[in-house]
Amino acid sequence: MAVELEKYKGQSSRYVCPKCGRSRCFTKYIDTETNQYIDNSVGICNHRNSCGYHLPPKAFFDMNPEKIRAEYKVDNFFDAHRVKEIIPIKSIPKEHILKLLGQDSKFLTFLKSKFPKDVVRKAIFDYFIGGFGDGKVVFNQIDSLGRIRSAKLMLYDEKTGKRFRNAENEYNENGTRNSFSPPVEWLHTSLKKDGLLDKDFKLTQCLFGEHLINKYPDKKIIVVESEKTAIVMSCIMPQYIFMATGGLGGLNSQRIYPIKDAEIMVYPDYGQYEYWKQKAYMINLELGSNIVVSHAYEDLARLQDLDMGSDIADYFLENIENLESKNKDIETQKENTKTKKEFAQTKS
Ligand SMILES: [Zn+2]
Repeated sequence: MAVELEKYKGQSSRYVCPKCGRSRCFTKYIDTETNQYIDNSVGICNHRNSCGYHLPPKAFFDMNPEKIRAEYKVDNFFDAHRVKEIIPIKSIPKEHILKLLGQDSKFLTFLKSKFPKDVVRKAIFDYFIGGFGDGKVVFNQIDSLGRIRSAKLMLYDEKTGKRFRNAENEYNENGTRNSFSPPVEWLHTSLKKDGLLDKDFKLTQCLFGEHLINKYPDKKIIVVESEKTAIVMSCIMPQYIFMATGGLGGLNSQRIYPIKDAEIMVYPDYGQYEYWKQKAYMINLELGSNIVVSHAYEDLARLQDLDMGSDIADYFLENIENLESKNKDIETQKENTKTKKEFAQTKS
């Protein structure tokens, strides 16, 4: 039986918590083979500290064995040997990304403002970072067999390094406020539109950075959520390979499968620890992998009252900034002292 927490599809996918009664904070488990909720009580509350409600499917079925679907009764609940549909993986011809490589982007401008040239250069070569149009960065998804699955084209603010957001008072066609980041553009979508790719091309995503397992076979792998976090962290901790799921739902057995035998550690964004821990638990059961989910950032973020949804790269970038401004302060102080001395000398 395959179960997973329902992916976030807006507020309608979050429910009233059966324990604390607060609305839009309860995520239900879904039986992914029937696409049905297991039960209205089976899920997890977002308020981990003040509520802490979590009823996983296994505990529910232990209490209500009559509710297990007949076909699962004979087998082990977490049957690792179930047959999965095999989807042929399509890839994008190299020529389409070659022309994007080496192009500048606002993301690279940001990266260059934070790290030395050679460090940025290494990141560009490692991740094949490209650029497109007016400052968009191209994050290529290349698997360990060298296949280009697709690429994301994204716009970042060159100063803050945050995703570009539409102006706050801009309204979209539905009349709702448009303060979100614009949707991610995919290379395969635009190639299809231009008639450069088969109409039946279907995207099968891989971890961003999966190809690096060949380049650095001895390094431990750290999986994070966003591509930006992976790249920034690779500049800070080059002793690890950083890979990105590209989204909260991207931590799944299909994407972990190619690296399942490696030493894998997962760094969830602040607030997603429980969710990814649950996912990692299921993946480990299914693949026999040994993913360890780090609690370090969760602790740090709680302790320092950082923003929900922030991640480890945000923390390090913040501290690079603090360090820089501290250095600046010291320099300013020195200059002030110098000026004072000079001033004193002219006076006498
Ligand atoms: Zn609750």
